[in-house]
Amino acid sequence: MAEHPVLAALEAQLPEGVVVTDPDVVDGYRHDRALTIEAGRPAAVVRATSTADVQATLRVASRFSVPVVTRGAGTGLSGGSAAIDGCITLSTERMRSIAVDPAAMVATVQPGLLNAEVKAAVAQHGLWYPPDPSSFEICSIGGNLATNAGGLCCVKYGVTTDYVLGLEVVLADGRAVRLGGRTIKDVAGYDLKRLFVGSEGTLGVITEATLRLRPKPAPLGTVAGMFADVVDSGRAVTQIMASMRPGALELMDGAAIAAVERVRPMDIGPAVGALLIGQSDVGSAELSAMAEACEKAGATFVAVTEDPGEGDLLMGARRMAIPCVERLGAVLIEDVGVPIPQIPALIAGVRAVSERRDTAIPIIGHAGDGNFHPLVTFDRGDADATLRAGTAFDDVMEVALSLGGTITGEHGVGMLKASHLGAQLGAVATELTRTIKAALDPQNILNPGKWV
Ligand SMILES: Cc1cc2nc3c(=O)[nH]c(=O)nc-3n(C[C@H](O)[C@H](O)[C@H](O)COP(=O)(O)OP(=O)(O)OC[C@H]3O[C@@H](n4cnc5c(N)ncnc54)[C@H](O)[C@@H]3O)c2cc1C
Repeated sequence: MAEHPVLAALEAQLPEGVVVTDPDVVDGYRHDRALTIEAGRPAAVVRATSTADVQATLRVASRFSVPVVTRGAGTGLSGGSAAIDGCITLSTERMRSIAVDPAAMVATVQPGLLNAEVKAAVAQHGLWYPPDPSSFEICSIGGNLATNAGGLCCVKYGVTTDYVLGLEVVLADGRAVRLGGRTIKDVAGYDLKRLFVGSEGTLGVITEATLRLRPKPAPLGTVAGMFADVVDSGRAVTQIMASMRPGALELMDGAAIAAVERVRPMDIGPAVGALLIGQSDVGSAELSAMAEACEKAGATFVAVTEDPGEGDLLMGARRMAIPCVERLGAVLIEDVGVPIPQIPALIAGVRAVSERRDTAIPIIGHAGDGNFHPLVTFDRGDADATLRAGTAFDDVMEVALSLGGTITGEHGVGMLKASHLGAQLGAVATELTRTIKAALDPQNILNPGKWV
């Protein structure tokens, strides 16, 4: 039995093997993918196997006022699941059940399943769970719910919250509550489930979700538009979005393309300023309209294919962009969003920041959503470059806010953007946020000291 009172209480309340204190294993749970963030060291990792395990953990945590950092797969890009010194890291990786009800077109899932596993399980019934972060093969559905994850097809089919019918949540004091249910429409009382979607582990632990499913869409055709100037590609996006809803509309600028080319050559010429990839599941008329919009906006080359394999290759390259740019140096990953008409201004603004701060900022993005990931890249060993990168990171958020945008479209606030949240919310919404946090977590044990 452990001597530390918190560890002793955890071990007494939880099944054997659930509480992990081996420092080598615990070390693997310190960081998420926000690699520039200094993470703390957990006192223990609880690998919960059931809602009851989560409840027992939170009862112990609230008895001893110990911080709890809930963790899915740790692919978050903003430090949301990065450990706090002395915390209990509550991992959901072993909570992996799924039940599909094809007649009701819903799946009831535990949080530890990967997004790709949910997709594969429902596909066996001819159904589709749309939200598809680029990280879908490695991130958990619990993490998707807690960050309200977006992705590539969200431009047409919506983000995670649009697929949540019901949730089971364990509150800070260990009580479990069911919110929503299995019906498509439900307006009984406040929509409390939506409060937990995107709350990044600060209000409760999501232990089960009932997700809405759709019939599988038709195979996707693809348009690839190449531009000499990335701002022109932004103009193509605004034109496309003014009249249609493509199945995906993704952008990579020249620097991002070059980073991917180094890992997976695509034979795209060296002088390309941007590649816009549009997809459609409604057929050739929409593909032609997207191609025409690219041409009108000044594309230097446009190609259309209805071969899903070719489209997958291009989208695969786009999905690889973040890890490929990470090979070039340390990266502060932006996640800003702007209203669609402001896309060209955002791209131009990021370029101006890059020049002003003498810092490389390749741009990729879910362009159809106006959600971009300028990748502020720097040499961590160079103190001056590190300082400039930090300032550039702040500047990009200021550009987005000045255009009526947001500091984060899908990755969440975490630790990376915590100091900028107030600038977006304003005084009253910040106070409201703190009131909600205090009501649900009066001891401030759930992911404390992150953004709320
Ligand atoms: C290469 C790459 C590409 C990416 N592309 C996208 C993209 O296209 N779209 C996108 O949205 N994201 C993307 N991400 C970011 C990341 O994958 C998502 O934020 C994902 O939703 C995180 O899931 P996770 O299981 O890894 O969560 P974690 O990183 O473990 O946790 C994320 C947050 O959720 C909280 N949390 C986790 N599980 C629970 C739970 N059960 N209850 C309560 N809180 C919980 C954590 O405390 C933390 O605050 C990408 C990441 C990488 C590395």
